Amino acid sequence: MRPYLLLTPGPLTTSETVKEAMMSDWCTWDEDYNIGIVEVIRHELTELASSRPDEYTAVLMQGSGTFCVEATLGSTVRPDDHLLIAANGAYGLRMGTIADYYRIPHHVLKFEETQPVDPEAIGAYLDEHPEVTHVSVVHCETTTGVLNPLERVAQVVKAHGKTLIVDAMSSFGGVPVDMAALGIDFLISSANKCIQGVPGFGFVIARRSLLEQCKGVARSLSLDLYDQWAAMEKGHGKWRFTSPTHVVRAFMQALNELKAEGGISARHARYCENHRVLVEGMRSLGFRTLLPDEEQSPVITSFYYPEEGFDFKAFYLKLKERGFVIYPGKISQADTFRIGNIGDVFPDDFRRLVEAIKDIR
Ligand SMILES: *Cc1c(COP(=O)(O)O)cnc(C)c1O
Repeated sequence: MRPYLLLTPGPLTTSETVKEAMMSDWCTWDEDYNIGIVEVIRHELTELASSRPDEYTAVLMQGSGTFCVEATLGSTVRPDDHLLIAANGAYGLRMGTIADYYRIPHHVLKFEETQPVDPEAIGAYLDEHPEVTHVSVVHCETTTGVLNPLERVAQVVKAHGKTLIVDAMSSFGGVPVDMAALGIDFLISSANKCIQGVPGFGFVIARRSLLEQCKGVARSLSLDLYDQWAAMEKGHGKWRFTSPTHVVRAFMQALNELKAEGGISARHARYCENHRVLVEGMRSLGFRTLLPDEEQSPVITSFYYPEEGFDFKAFYLKLKERGFVIYPGKISQADTFRIGNIGDVFPDDFRRLVEAIKDIR
């Protein structure tokens, strides 16, 4: 069931047992599914995300991660609110596109793609613009792999008394974050990233007291985060519309496997080791990373093309033949490709990868 490893940050390589969990059919209104799976997942997500889980609540939403980002912005930022988006890559900019579609008054504070967002610049903007009500930021910018300084951003945003929305799509489950300690109000992620499930839904972990106030704010029916949440609360795990039952069952299995591994800190340690083996090996072959080590996440790493005229497509195909699928680059300023470190992949896989790259170079 595994022709090659996906070294791509979602969909990613999943375990055989996660795939097997999809082999039975589930009824969407039966308690085996609603109470036995959906409610357990919702509760466990709040425990993973916060040292004070009672203050938070989780909503699952059909679709890919972007659907959840859109559901959050479109259901929590009111037409007369003002959103500040700190962006240093494609996913930050996408939040600006969503704000355009919803005609949300907003400002995109742009930073270099190769640099973390600057908490001081965010603070300076907030000092000058008291009309801002919400701030949104991406935790790990998967565009490059840069890890934004979430703690310092949260400090600044909270010192100004603003609502903080975090796209933690590619980091949640793989990089420890405590929403309660940082004061994060909404955190967004999806099934097919560091929890190591398969694609089909995303989730939002929300400060309960804020989400409760969002009735009627949404400008979309299917992406109404409040209504989805209210239905799940009232129906004890019922989704408003057909839910991706098999994917949800696989996600439950993935959560159990995260626990068995030792939780987020153990998973983080494995990803860091994956990343260390990869970067050390690639550097020994003469490759250079796009980012300095201190800005780099353990989620995905961008490498410069090793020489001018480097044929990425040929390189990609040769690696695929050897059992590894990697990612093209996503920035315009430099020719790069990317290798993901997340998923059911281990340091030995990266040792084999480095050997394979040595072979074909
Ligand atoms: C994967 C990802 C998303 C969501 O992308 P989809 O293609 O909609 O799943 C959003 N933000 C970040 C940072 C991501 O890595």
